[in-house]
Amino acid sequence: MTGDWQRTACSLCYLNCGLEVQLDGQKITRVRGDKAHPRSGGYLCQKAQRLTWYGDHEDRLTTPLRRRPDGTHEPIDWDTALTEIAAKLHAIRDADTAAGRPGSFAYVGGGGQGNHSGGAYGAALLKWMNSTRHFNALSQEKTGDFWVNGHLFGSTIVHTAEDVEHCDLLVVLGCNPWQAHGFSNARHALNTLKNDPSRRMIVIDPRRTETAELADLHLPLRPGTDATCWARSWRCCWSGVPPTSSSSPPGPRVSTRSPPCWRKCRWTGGSRTPKCPVWTSSGPST
Ligand code: SF4
Repeated sequence: MTGDWQRTACSLCYLNCGLEVQLDGQKITRVRGDKAHPRSGGYLCQKAQRLTWYGDHEDRLTTPLRRRPDGTHEPIDWDTALTEIAAKLHAIRDADTAAGRPGSFAYVGGGGQGNHSGGAYGAALLKWMNSTRHFNALSQEKTGDFWVNGHLFGSTIVHTAEDVEHCDLLVVLGCNPWQAHGFSNARHALNTLKNDPSRRMIVIDPRRTETAELADLHLPLRPGTDATCWARSWRCCWSGVPPTSSSSPPGPRVSTRSPPCWRKCRWTGGSRTPKCPVWTSSGPST
């Protein structure tokens, strides 16, 4: 029998959108966005809409598995699993202490994306094991993000999120937020941006993605030319002087003069009138 709607949060990515679920005992039967949620306001992406598919998948593990000597696995109950794991952790910790060495234990995972409780539990476990060896998906996926944070804010763990909802110009470089998200209410934010004539979106991606379909300009770069494109874009934006008249284009420190890169830029085609969408306020040239 299906019960009332219960409020919870999606843990499939770091946005943690508010959800409402209907339960039949322990089983989720229906999912919808929580309109009262302060951040997501009822938004739900296709991953959360398919929560029942993930939760009820036939390959899902429903009990701990213990490896047998021949490499196959056998199901065991939780009490047995936890007791055996605790005994092994105690043995490793005791051996480290007796040898006078730092913890030889390493923790992989936890706190990587939407389910943050693993991070807290993992940190407590590492501390008890006297180890600092913690690895997770962010070690690979977000190394550059942490590096930039360190240089911008003085600490690699100061993390900011893009203010896509309020930007004048969104540049999407090599990703497809229509499908992969990465910022709050992605599809709603992209549609709002597309329908606002005072805002623009540029997608730089070899593939014409769903996000590129919505963009004012899709720039399908040839592989290996990303760095050149980026360097020229920055030069275009930052080499001028601040606007001095009301007719000056919007944006950060753009110049009323021709950008230095216009002669070679494929967007302007050598025109003396810059048509670069980063540069002008009259709309992009495709
Ligand atoms: S964007 Fe999708 S996957 Fe991410 S928290 Fe929201 S509903 Fe879940």
